[in-house]
Amino acid sequence: MKEITGAAFCGACLGLKGTAAPAWIPGQNTLEDKAVPDTGTKREGLVAACGLYCGACPMYLATQSNDEKRIQPLLKRFSTGPMKLTMEDILCDGCLGKGRIASFCKRCEIRACPKDKSNVTLCSDCTDFPCSRITDFNNDGMTHHAEVLDNLRRIREIGIHEWAEFEKDRWERPECRLPMSWYDGECSGCGAPRSDRLFKLTPG
Ligand SMILES: [Zn+2]
Repeated sequence: MKEITGAAFCGACLGLKGTAAPAWIPGQNTLEDKAVPDTGTKREGLVAACGLYCGACPMYLATQSNDEKRIQPLLKRFSTGPMKLTMEDILCDGCLGKGRIASFCKRCEIRACPKDKSNVTLCSDCTDFPCSRITDFNNDGMTHHAEVLDNLRRIREIGIHEWAEFEKDRWERPECRLPMSWYDGECSGCGAPRSDRLFKLTPG
């Protein structure tokens, strides 16, 4: 099995089946005491080092919804099968935010890479861009990863703040201003169809 080196989870992962019990028990633990960052003014924290927009990540969106009806199905999918993720593993406040980081991203090599380099926050800041690490991530077959090289080039052009605003606008449905997740076919709030501005979902 290919080793997961990046923030590698996807629509296909959501179909995992199994019977492992979740570590988080409804009614016994609440999310109310967790600090939720002000993402309205700290949107840059939603731009991952790899060029993914965390604001469209199902783990980020479920966490920020603070809604057990969104978190529990996600936990159920990821706590079963080979990954056996716990509640702590899936809760996330964004890659470069100051809060919780999903376990996939906490051990992501791309996220860790800028720590050894001066004046590098994102791959787009790096003189080695695009290196094989980010190119491999872009080409690993996951549809949402296939945008990261283009994203990072755009961030170089317009800056992280403008790009974060652009992505917010791209992933939000104008009908209800609710954000779509990477693999949503329609808006979970108003049922509006997936925007043409988002990458095409492959059937099956
Ligand atoms: Zn909607």
